[in-house]
Amino acid sequence: MKYTLPKLPYAFDSLEPFIDAKTMEIHHTKHHQAYVDKLNDALSKHPEIADKPIEELLKNTADVPEDIRTAIKNHGGGHVNHSFFWKLLKKEQEAKGKIISAIEKEFGSLDKFKEQFTASALGRFGSGWVWLVLNRRKLEIYSTGNQDSPLMENKIPLLGLDIWEHSYYLKHMWNRKAYVEDWWNVVNWKKVEELYESAIKNKK
Ligand code: MN
Repeated sequence: MKYTLPKLPYAFDSLEPFIDAKTMEIHHTKHHQAYVDKLNDALSKHPEIADKPIEELLKNTADVPEDIRTAIKNHGGGHVNHSFFWKLLKKEQEAKGKIISAIEKEFGSLDKFKEQFTASALGRFGSGWVWLVLNRRKLEIYSTGNQDSPLMENKIPLLGLDIWEHSYYLKHMWNRKAYVEDWWNVVNWKKVEELYESAIKNKK
C-alpha cells in the first residue's frame, strides 16, 4: 500500500488566531508529507509487509523487519499521529458529553485535567506528544517521545497534542506554554466524544 497525505478537513486559516495559517500549511504540506514519503520509502524495501495497515505494524513493531523498524516507528508513527491530530482541531467546540463526565471522574474536574495535561506538555524534554488515552478502561494522560504512537503500547488515543517545535515556532517561538494555552481553544471535543464512545463500546 502506498500512503498519501490526507486532505485537511478545513482551510489552513480556520484555526486563527490560535494556530496560524502559515504554521498549518507548513506543518501539513511539508512535515506530514515528509513522514508519508519516508514511510513509503521504508515499506518499499519490504513489500511482504507493505499491505498490512500501518496501525497494525505500530502495534507489533517486533514483527517489523529490523532494518526498517526505526523508520516505521518514526515515519509510520509520524503519519498516524498527524492524521489523528488534524481531526482533533476545531474552533468553538463545547466541552460536553460522556467523555467530560469521565474526565471529571478521573481527574477531579476538566480544569484539573487541563492543568495536568499542560504540565505533561511542558515537562516533556525535546520533541514528542501528549495524549489522553484509554488504557484498558482507564483514562490516562500519557506522553511519548519522537513520533512514538500510543498504539505501540496498546493504548487507544482520544486526544493528542503535537509538541514538536515545528507545530508552533512561527507564531509562539520559544513559548510552548503559550502554544498549549492557545491549543485548548481548538480542541474538537465532539470528535473526542466520538472516539471515546467508540472505544468504550469496543471494550465491552
Ligand atoms: Mn508535527
